[in-house]
Amino acid sequence: HSGLFWIRRDLRAHDNAGLHQALSECDQVHCVFVLDRDILDPLPRQDRRVEFIVHSLAELDTELRELAQRPGVGLRVEHARASEAVPALAQRLGVQAVFCNHDDEPAALARDAQVRTTLARQGQAFHTRKDHVIFERQEVLTQSGTVYGVFTPYKNAWLKKLTPFYLKPYPVARHAAALADWPEGPPAPVPSLADIGFEPSNLGALRLPTGSRGAQALLTDFLPRLPAYGQARDFPAVKGPSYLSVHLRFGTVSIRQLAGLAHERAQQGCAGAATWLSELIWRDFYVQILANHPRVVERSFKPEYDAIEWEQGPQAEALFQAWCEGRTGYPLVDAAMLQLNQTGYMHNRLRMVVASFLVKDLGIDWRWGERYFAQQLNDFDLSANNGGWQWASSSGCDAQPYFRIFNPISQSEKFDAEGKFIRRYLPQLAALPNADLHAPWLARPLTLQATGLQLGRDYPLPIVQHDEARERTLARYAVVKKKA
Ligand code: FAD
Repeated sequence: HSGLFWIRRDLRAHDNAGLHQALSECDQVHCVFVLDRDILDPLPRQDRRVEFIVHSLAELDTELRELAQRPGVGLRVEHARASEAVPALAQRLGVQAVFCNHDDEPAALARDAQVRTTLARQGQAFHTRKDHVIFERQEVLTQSGTVYGVFTPYKNAWLKKLTPFYLKPYPVARHAAALADWPEGPPAPVPSLADIGFEPSNLGALRLPTGSRGAQALLTDFLPRLPAYGQARDFPAVKGPSYLSVHLRFGTVSIRQLAGLAHERAQQGCAGAATWLSELIWRDFYVQILANHPRVVERSFKPEYDAIEWEQGPQAEALFQAWCEGRTGYPLVDAAMLQLNQTGYMHNRLRMVVASFLVKDLGIDWRWGERYFAQQLNDFDLSANNGGWQWASSSGCDAQPYFRIFNPISQSEKFDAEGKFIRRYLPQLAALPNADLHAPWLARPLTLQATGLQLGRDYPLPIVQHDEARERTLARYAVVKKKA
């Protein structure tokens, strides 16, 4: 019995559900990853995510050879259309089945349906497993058997359903003998960025650790900070969160390992661990929302919010451009956008602040912001990103009510009181006293003069007045109230 294991968003050999299944059911297993042209061809030629993947693949290749202790085993990496390359390779190898892990994004499901059909025509099976969440699809349901649309009861049901079974790692090492040599000799080395037509990004300069080893290094660094997570996580200048999102996105770390650790520490009374576990549950929550309501990709989770009329035309486009480039005149918003543009990461508190600003201060459709985040974020994940944007625009499940509008100045005063984060990304404002940093246009002329800062030249004047914008937003959202 032989099989082909197709790696996708699970770039690790250890504790991998699909790989475990393939190795335990087959005597001979080959592993392949496809740098999918359908996904890569439309991307700009510098992309941190592509670089992250290429680095992580090289590590995975070594991991597989070490596991098998034979150099003839290894990861085959193709640069092709996955929907065609996988069935073609399966046919050449003459395997009985292709194995992989679930990916419930609509485009991935469509691709997998195509692969399944081709394989069936070739007389080959297609087996898929849950791997990248603890609970998926319809595993956590209300008592009446429906899908949860509100987080807290979902979380309670999630915790109630959790048993050690769901956290147990899938042992791969003990089945490693089934990793097969490639018939035509060891596979070619993992392609370089240049081989696939990409150029290096600033990933190296950012020192973002890649691969499974990178994920474990970040985890080791984070664990001593776990007890303080609950307090530290809201302040962007503080090293509070884990920075593991990109690893969860690409599966260089197992969710079972992280949730298991968080759960164990929470049981021992660590409040920070309980809060962190909650964040991991939010991740499962949005994955199951997308799986059960794929329409959220295009439309509001709450349909009545699709009646809202957003700003359109050249002026809206100019405002949007200013937001993208960090030129709104609101320092916290601008510093956050510069963090995103320069590093591909943005602190969670800031994601909420800038999303609210785009939608509720500039009156721009949340889908524009969602698309921009999708291009820029290293950890871009359709379910979490869509969930986050719909939360901010109040159109999503368990979103904040539309009349709760973040004030970008008080958010700044509260979460970056000393301006450490703002000064990191906006050095031209560094000399301003803390009291003036959050809204420089309100500073006294004498203060501005003393610092040499000229608003409009060195830093923009605000592109919108928050109080006026607030009124416009309440009026804009009134259509929802009338319909509801
Ligand atoms: P930690 O605080 O260490 O949290 C641990 C993990 O929990 C994260 O890595 C992530 O996997 C998960 N998590 C935390 N918060 C959330 C959340 N609100 N929803 C879902 N999962 C969560 N997260 C993404 O992974 N990809 C996205 O594309 C994404 N887009 C977002 C867009 C908006 C508008 C908002 C408000 C939030 C978005 N988030 C997204 C959620 C959150 O901001 C990031 O997961 C978090 O900032 C990542 O940093 P971390 O790994 O240090 O998080």
